[in-house]
Amino acid sequence: MSPSALIEPMEAEGFSWSGRQGPRVRLLTPGTPPQGGRKMARQSTIKSMKGVSAILFLAVAGLVTAGIVQIRHEYLLTGTELIGWALVPLSLLLGFTLPVRCRVIRTNRKACGNWAYGLLFGCRSGAGHWSGKFRVRLGLGHGEAKPIERRRQSSGNTAALNQPASRTKPVKVTVEENNFAKVGAWVGLISGIVSIIQAIISVLH
Ligand SMILES: [Zn+2]
Repeated sequence: MSPSALIEPMEAEGFSWSGRQGPRVRLLTPGTPPQGGRKMARQSTIKSMKGVSAILFLAVAGLVTAGIVQIRHEYLLTGTELIGWALVPLSLLLGFTLPVRCRVIRTNRKACGNWAYGLLFGCRSGAGHWSGKFRVRLGLGHGEAKPIERRRQSSGNTAALNQPASRTKPVKVTVEENNFAKVGAWVGLISGIVSIIQAIISVLH
């Protein structure tokens, strides 16, 4: 049995920056209603991300607690090492799994309400949100995303409909959110870098 491919048009976003993505292709098993199936798939992603986040949070808490216990028993080195390893689940949690709202400002000036996982990247459904938010995080030119000129379409009507508001002007990506998310993103990024260094050191030892 092979699942039938159903091609759905991109979600109405007002416009899309690039024609790169094209129509989204989704594999559905026969008999599954497209809308319900998609919603259910999204729900289960949130559910599993919540589960993974909870496990990572427990791992952070457990490692920190164990580290403190070791330090109290004057095993300073083991204690610090354990706390150091807590940065690995912490960076994964803050960087990639924690379900939060995307909050990238759309062209209609409203903050994007789609789910994003981790504080570093935006959602995957809004064009340019995923990488745009990351560039904002790093402070790279306020996450300017240059719209790529769309391929000329044979039919004049559809080309006019799909045209972005501006073709050459770079679109500035802004994110509406609180300081907690900003600080959390940086904590995630830095602990990720520290964990990588830590892992390299432990391998070389
Ligand atoms: Zn978004």
